[in-house]
Amino acid sequence: MNALQTAPQVTVIGAGIVGICCALALQKRGQQVRVVDKFAPGEATSFGNAGVLAECGCVPVNLPGFVRKVPQLMLDPQGPLSISAGYMHRIAPWGMSFMLNSRRGKFEQVADAMSSLLQDATERHVSLAADNAASEWVCASPYYYLYKDEADFRADSTAWQAREQRGITYDILQGEALAAAEPAIAEQYKYAVSLHNHGFSRNPEKLVKALAASFVSKGGEVIQADIRDILFTDNQPSGLLTHKGVLSINKLVVAAGVWSRTLAARLDRDIPLQSERGYHIEVHNPGVSLGKPIMYAAGKLVATPMEKGIRFAGLVEFAELDSLPNRDFCHRLLYHARRLFPQICLDDFTEWMGNRPSMPDSLPVISQSENFADVFYAFGHQHMGLTLGPHTGELIADLVSGRQPKIDLQPFSIRRF
Ligand SMILES: Cc1cc2nc3c(=O)[nH]c(=O)nc-3n(C[C@H](O)[C@H](O)[C@H](O)COP(=O)(O)OP(=O)(O)OC[C@H]3O[C@@H](n4cnc5c(N)ncnc54)[C@H](O)[C@@H]3O)c2cc1C
Repeated sequence: MNALQTAPQVTVIGAGIVGICCALALQKRGQQVRVVDKFAPGEATSFGNAGVLAECGCVPVNLPGFVRKVPQLMLDPQGPLSISAGYMHRIAPWGMSFMLNSRRGKFEQVADAMSSLLQDATERHVSLAADNAASEWVCASPYYYLYKDEADFRADSTAWQAREQRGITYDILQGEALAAAEPAIAEQYKYAVSLHNHGFSRNPEKLVKALAASFVSKGGEVIQADIRDILFTDNQPSGLLTHKGVLSINKLVVAAGVWSRTLAARLDRDIPLQSERGYHIEVHNPGVSLGKPIMYAAGKLVATPMEKGIRFAGLVEFAELDSLPNRDFCHRLLYHARRLFPQICLDDFTEWMGNRPSMPDSLPVISQSENFADVFYAFGHQHMGLTLGPHTGELIADLVSGRQPKIDLQPFSIRRF
């Protein structure tokens, strides 16, 4: 590899779900595209998510009133939130901004913007997969939100009203109907919201790998290289310094998940991109079956039927980006797995931790660079990156080819900070 190598029209940094969807959309518009990642496709955050195509995710976590719930969420030893002791002061500015974004007016703006991005998310995935020999890995499906009873559901009414206002539709399942639909769920959970127009992936890693293989089969290039720096010629980005040498670039799309912060700082400025670390355990041979993904609303975790068993994924930990996974979170997931599925066999499971790339206003950055006309950003998809991959790809392809996107991208601009 050397700097004289001809640069493709577009280089995408990042072979996660977002980067690969950008690459496919650009390729479809006739661009010659190269993807660079230090790992093989789909091996970072996009490997271990809960796999849900969640159009209901237009409502951010920090609903109005969220601030009051934080102490309770953190003090519960099996709860969904933790901040490592030494990280408290580091997360404070981001946390403050996150809290301020839960004010009613701001919350409504965020939900509207997310809703525009989430439109037809499942349909987009199913059709992208069909075009790229990846249909095995995604399907349309109902998505359940599970509650103990109606009172529990009513306590979440702010979120459900906000979803309804944005066109999210659902049925309610109770008692025997719920037990008939998902017999393995513990009896104490008697109330579920069954969301329409949702879906899931049975293996998010294999989905990204299948999409990437299709991209390569159509003439795209995937290079495995660790990018150490961005090089400039005449004050314009002209190359990527990698551990293997220099790669020349023309147009550049930064889709490097949580690691985009360092790259954006080099190109534009420091932006408040933070890792919300999340965990999964995947139980193999669980001895119980599950037909569709289920959000356990009180625990803020999802159980999803996967290729090899049931994956329990969720929780949020704020800690140093490179610090070791906290095994206590896997114990929390095991605890909830037992409570949700009393008959489950937990003898055989794998553990995983990943970094949700999160902005304090819960909106991704899908934007042209402030400083460079040929640089574009696609990162910060927080809890929703799998769901939003295909639409983000389309929007980036619009920006790169100078076409007017069909939705207003102002809320996702890098200039908003
Ligand atoms: C527990 C958990 C559950 C989740 N559940 C869901 C869900 O059900 N539905 C949903 O929609 N979303 C979910 N998410 C969120 C989703 O997984 C992420 O938003 C998404 O994976 C982000 O994708 P990405 O492509 O932006 O980042 P990544 O998948 O992290 O990809 C970024 C890539 O950039 C590469 N890279 C970075 N820096 C460099 C460099 N310097 N040189 C070379 N390569 C570089 C990395 O190696 C990596 O492969 C969940 C996340 C977690 C943690």
